[in-house]
Amino acid sequence: AKFDDAGLHPAMLKNVELAGYKTPTPIQRYCLPAIHLGYDVIGIAQTGSGKTAAYLIPILNKLMGKAKKLAAPRPNPATFQEGVDVPFRAEPLVIIVVPTRELAVQIFNEARKFCYRTMLRPCVVYGGGALRDQKEQLRKGCDILIGTPGRLIDFIDRPENLTLRRVRYMVIDEADELLADDWKDELTKIMSGGEQEEGNINYMLFSATFPKAFRDLAQTHLAETHVRLR
Ligand code: AMP
Repeated sequence: AKFDDAGLHPAMLKNVELAGYKTPTPIQRYCLPAIHLGYDVIGIAQTGSGKTAAYLIPILNKLMGKAKKLAAPRPNPATFQEGVDVPFRAEPLVIIVVPTRELAVQIFNEARKFCYRTMLRPCVVYGGGALRDQKEQLRKGCDILIGTPGRLIDFIDRPENLTLRRVRYMVIDEADELLADDWKDELTKIMSGGEQEEGNINYMLFSATFPKAFRDLAQTHLAETHVRLR
């Protein structure tokens, strides 16, 4: 199997090629069609398996065809001024939750590659970074939001900065680590999607292990699930 027979959008195919990826890894071969078909997904995968691209490629690919219509409202670049406090909030289509700042930045960089020459704009937020700078990034428009749970909740609690109203895809990456670090309540709050209508969000849960806390989280939030253990 190759990426060019996966039925990808030409812009995505080009970005996959630019990234230097020639053949999909096993987790990618599983996730691409499952996510394309609209299934919620549980992926048991280690770092190094290509799990990031396994969800980024199919999610962004689905959004690309409709990017013009779907991309978040943006402030006018001609009049936009850094630091000037005009109210403008992020309305992302994708939320990706990860346990660490390092992982968040790594996924943000990968998302930037796949969003190249599209209307889609990724943003990253994490604890320890300046709230003010991250708020500024969100105000410029955000379609794919990557973040650590504490900081995501900080922004969710500021509906003038962020709303989950338009979210279609939610990824919980390294979910076992998040649960071990006691983020269950925050995950539950994020995954409930705020004012989202029920059933509108596709969930993708990734974990290196398959503990009970993880199975419980999946059972609570996931609908049509494909489980694959490798
Ligand atoms: P991950 O498991 O998502 O942390 O990815 C591990 C590394 O593999 C990253 O440096 C990716 O850029 C790279 N990678 C992911 N998918 C592929 C692929 N299909 N072909 C070659 N490299 C890949």
